[in-house]
Amino acid sequence: MPLLLLALALLWPGTAQASPVVLIDAGHGGFDHGIKHQGLREKDIVLQVAKALKRHLELLGVDAILSRRLDRQMSISERLAWLKAHEGAQVLLSLHLSSTQRARVYVAWLPRAQTPQELYLWQHRQRPYLPQSLELARAVLQSLRREAGLKVSLLQLPLPLLSQAASAAVLLELPHPRAAPYDNPMFRDSVVEAILKGLLRYVQ
Ligand SMILES: [Zn+2]
Repeated sequence: MPLLLLALALLWPGTAQASPVVLIDAGHGGFDHGIKHQGLREKDIVLQVAKALKRHLELLGVDAILSRRLDRQMSISERLAWLKAHEGAQVLLSLHLSSTQRARVYVAWLPRAQTPQELYLWQHRQRPYLPQSLELARAVLQSLRREAGLKVSLLQLPLPLLSQAASAAVLLELPHPRAAPYDNPMFRDSVVEAILKGLLRYVQ
């Protein structure tokens, strides 16, 4: 997709200075397989998508940092430590599969702050970025609908990884394998391209 890559390269600002950084969290891993369906496993599918996204982003001069590059188990505290180690990143994208035929894009749900101090609690680091997360979520949702023909819902949940991200942050659940041909490379490419285009719309 050279045209898309070119467009993205032109739109990402500041590539001559510090490269933008996108964090990509591939869910599950190791003994934690996630969803399994006819030999397909969530942990493998999301890692393939994460690696393909990383390859494309790096061609654009965007640093993409994966939470895991191998098939290994990661606890939530390890993922939170990884997130904290890369503070300053522009985007967090966490990848999973959905239990339904619909894809789902989640942004953080945060409790209403009671006092000004609570605004600064580490649990609430997402709060000032929530509008950006919603914008990113809508961009990814529209792109998955238009480019990959997926049914997609936008939801809010109090997910620790999202609420502790100091950047635009979304968790994307791709459709359940019974409803999506992940063993077809063309389908996987269309999903990767749709996510990349969602990022493009977000940065525009
Ligand atoms: Zn999952």
